[in-house]
Amino acid sequence: MGGFFGAVSRRDIVLDVFFGVDYHSHLGTRRGGMIICDDGRFQRQIHNIESTPFRTKFERDLETFSGTSGIGCISDSDPQPLLVRSHLGLYAITTVGIINNADALVKEFFSDHTHQFMAMSSGKVNETELVAAIINQKDDLISGMLHAQEVVDGSLTMLILTQNGEIYVSRDKLGRLPVLIGKNHVGYCVSFESFAYHKLGYRDYYELGPKEIVRLTADSCESVSPAGKEMRICAFLWTYYGYPNSNYEGVNVELMRYRNGEIMAENEAETMPDVDSVAGMPDSGVPHAIGYANRSHKPFARPFVKYTPTWSRSFVPENQSVRNQVAKMKQIPVPELIEGKKLLLVDDSIVRGTQLQETVEFLYESGAKEVHMRSACPPIAYGCKYLNFSRSKSEMELLVRRIVIELEGDEGLTHLDEYVDASTERGRKLLDTICQKFGFSSLGYQSIDGLLEAIGIDPCKICTYCWTGKE
Ligand code: SF4
Repeated sequence: MGGFFGAVSRRDIVLDVFFGVDYHSHLGTRRGGMIICDDGRFQRQIHNIESTPFRTKFERDLETFSGTSGIGCISDSDPQPLLVRSHLGLYAITTVGIINNADALVKEFFSDHTHQFMAMSSGKVNETELVAAIINQKDDLISGMLHAQEVVDGSLTMLILTQNGEIYVSRDKLGRLPVLIGKNHVGYCVSFESFAYHKLGYRDYYELGPKEIVRLTADSCESVSPAGKEMRICAFLWTYYGYPNSNYEGVNVELMRYRNGEIMAENEAETMPDVDSVAGMPDSGVPHAIGYANRSHKPFARPFVKYTPTWSRSFVPENQSVRNQVAKMKQIPVPELIEGKKLLLVDDSIVRGTQLQETVEFLYESGAKEVHMRSACPPIAYGCKYLNFSRSKSEMELLVRRIVIELEGDEGLTHLDEYVDASTERGRKLLDTICQKFGFSSLGYQSIDGLLEAIGIDPCKICTYCWTGKE
């Protein structure tokens, strides 16, 4: 994944970009970067943020920065923003998304024997540099950005900062991720998360449509290439990775999660187990659980609480078993809320199920009598091919696929649509098998219709590929 922030103003914007980017830290854990333009002179810094948060890493750079326009990013992939010199001039660029055909595009560049790219230590080409090379094939930035949107298979949202301090922003051709513009009395900013600029004193000004390109100066926000008609904004923004205070397409994340939990509770009003409390896990599961508890009239409780002061979210050890151990160390039980109790847990989603297993074992070890599990979205049967979405790296890691193969072998994969539908025999078998494996007293998933109702915008505009396999 990744996030971005940029600002252009009649005053110095270093702190706006610094805090604006920092407020995207939940979207990536690998690299952070900032480029500021001061009267045609660029200053840039990129840091590894794998073990130290963005703010701590960049604090010491602040004194060296000054300028009235800048862009920055939190990146889960390659180092960026990059500074590029071409026939289009000197400009800075940052991108978010995934390029599925990156190898083929690189090969095309090599075919005339006149191109090369700087290789990263992995030997791979930095995808943002590849995007810049594609843009540079055209005669101006706008045509170049449109061309990049055409040739990239996957998704691509990009910010460009020119030497005269203008920012060009292009939203992905199907609008998988949001791009919002904020305005204050001295300029404009562009952001993935709307709360980032609210907190910095900007007000909502504009939300780009899919494929739209906007140019920002301190005095103007101009749409320089119109929005396309088709949109597929990622549903996971609301269910899992978007920040609770943000709005996308006018829909607030926290409120969507309450509604989602309420709909789940409504849908099982007749069959709901008699539990002592409803709890959410992890943090993004909590608002779904609050909604569920409100509608079911069961008390919301926190039977375990995360120890956050020293286990920051950005601490993500490479090794899976260390990661599991860290996840375990973070959860501190409240024994009085667990021992002898019947608990219903609401998770934002069940992807691989690894962490879930640990949590459930931990609850039984702590004396829980029953653990009922609910997922705030439908069973995930397809890996994301549009975003660098780290929770679904390989399709075969997905819990649903692993269980289906266990039950029926590869043949089962041709019946995925039945397996993800709890009203079919295969769907019931999937639920029973997961319950047995994990020791759940019962298991339920939100339906696709329930999820779309909770988001509340035109369903045709929402990407649900993870669950339906339909593009
Ligand atoms: S496939 Fe899933 S994670 Fe990827 S954009 Fe669509 S809904 Fe989002």
